This record gives sequence, C-alpha cells and structure tokens, in this order.
Amino acid sequence: MKRQKSFSDTGARLLLIPSPIGNLSEVSGRIREAVEACDVIACEDTRNTGKLLSLLQIRKPLISHHEHNQSSSIPRILEELTAGHTVGVMSDAGYPVISDPGQNLVRAVIEQDIPVISFSGPNAALNALVASGLDARHYLFYGFTDSKSSRRRKELEQLKNLPWTLVFYEAPHRIAQCLADMEEVLGNRQACLARELTKKFEEYLRGTLQELRQAAEDGLKGEMVLVVAGHEPEEADEAAACRQVKELMAQGMKPKAAAKQVAKETGLSANGLYQLILKEQD
Ligand code: SAM
Repeated sequence: MKRQKSFSDTGARLLLIPSPIGNLSEVSGRIREAVEACDVIACEDTRNTGKLLSLLQIRKPLISHHEHNQSSSIPRILEELTAGHTVGVMSDAGYPVISDPGQNLVRAVIEQDIPVISFSGPNAALNALVASGLDARHYLFYGFTDSKSSRRRKELEQLKNLPWTLVFYEAPHRIAQCLADMEEVLGNRQACLARELTKKFEEYLRGTLQELRQAAEDGLKGEMVLVVAGHEPEEADEAAACRQVKELMAQGMKPKAAAKQVAKETGLSANGLYQLILKEQD
C-alpha cells in the first residue's frame, strides 16, 4: 500500500485540473488556486489552455502533452517533477484523463511515488446523467464508441445486457448513425441526448432512441452526451434463464454455480436466478 500527501503540501506533485465545458463561470476558487500553484502546466492544446489562462489573468509556462507526443512529453514532465516542481494537467474541456489525455502520465507519476491530486470540476458525462431522468444509482461511463459502424455495433453487443444506465460521448456528424446502431443493437430504449451543456443553447432531448435518431437526422449540432437506459430484464428473459440454469443442473452443476454461469451470460443477477430456482424447487 502507498499513502500520498495532500494538496496543502508543496513540492513535486501532479495536479489534475478540470476546465470549464463551456461556461467560464464554472472555474471555482479552488481551481484557480490549483492553477496558481503550478510551476508549469501540461496541456492537450497549448493555444486553448493559454486562452483560458489569459481570461483568468494567470500566466504559466505550458508544455504540450497529448496522445501523439506522450512518449516524449511524459519524460519531460517527470523531469519537472523530479526537480521538485508542481505540474498541472489540463485538457480542453472537463477532466483530463476522461476521454482526454493523461492516463499514462498519471500511472507513470504514481510509479515514481510522486503525489497525484485531483480537483472537483465540470464533467460533461455527469452533467448529462444527473439531468437525464434515467436511473443514476448505477451507471457505466463508456465515452466514445468506435467511429466505424461495424466496430461500434460489436462494442454495443458487449453492453446490451448490462442493467446499468450507459453514458456515451459522440460527435455531431456521427450521432445519427450512432443512434441507428444503438436502436438496432440495444433495442428502442429510453434515452436522453444532452447538448451544449452549460452553454447558451443547452438542450436536453428525452425520448426513445428512435425519436432521438429522427431528431438527429433532422440535424443536431454542438457537443453532445448520450445517456441510454440499461437493459431491463423482462420476465421472459428470466424464464429462459431459469430453464438454462436447470439444464446445467441436470448436467450435474450445483445450483449456485449454474445460476452464476447463466447470470454471466445473460446479465441477470446470479442471486436473483438462484432465488427463483429455490422458489421453484419449493
Ligand atoms: N474531458 C471531458 C469531460 O470530462 O467531460 C470530455 C472530453 S471529450 C474529448 C469531448 C466530448 O465531451 C465531446 O465530444 C462531447 O461528447 C462531450 N462534451 C464536452 N463538452 C460538452 C458540452 N458542453 N455539452 C455536451 N457534451 C460535451
């Protein structure tokens, strides 16, 4: 086990600093404090972060750090940290690491036993989820699906039996095809498309995947998050799963193990299936 220092300590540390997803007023006092504490800031796009910092009237040296230069930018950032400097990481919008660069850097810094500290701030996925009206007790953040329809469908196949609300990021030029693929693979579920969050033309479209697809075909612009209801096991699914459990039991498998195996295949609850089998046996 490793324990690390908190933000109040000075010296070498990596600060993960979220940026606004559209509305500048969402820069909190603590985010400003974090930016001010940095000796240098590693960012996805130095022009965009530079613009944000100049609006905040803060000047800091910037290092470019993105997916395509990380083999050179990570060692450069580690050098800064080894020299005892505080390095901030910022992306163009929202949290670094979340569908944005930073994951490998965070791992490399943890490996060096250098503190990594996060700050609360805007995140498009959570904004959309909480306003979607869909079940937010359990959810799965997926981010972007593949841009190719055939590969996207394969990804959706893996998600289709999960009982949790699904949260996706998508680009406006791909949203209509993405919704069509979802409608086909996941079925016509309830969903919410949240676009231009925190901006002037913020809008939530709540309805079925089919209704959202039709709206997307008519044209939807801006940045968007798609929240889709999880798979709701129907009674028919449960009855079929119970039959599968019984077949496995007939082949000699113990009821709990059989329920567990079928649960894994169907996405239903193992305990729920086991209880149904017990009830039937009574
Ligand atoms: N790191 C960011 C975060 O924490 O939310 C996400 C970055 S990802 C590269 C960009 C995607 O986030 C966009 O394509 C869109 O799906 C979503 N997004 C970002 N800002 C948004 C906004 N204001 N409204 C809706 N979606 C947004």
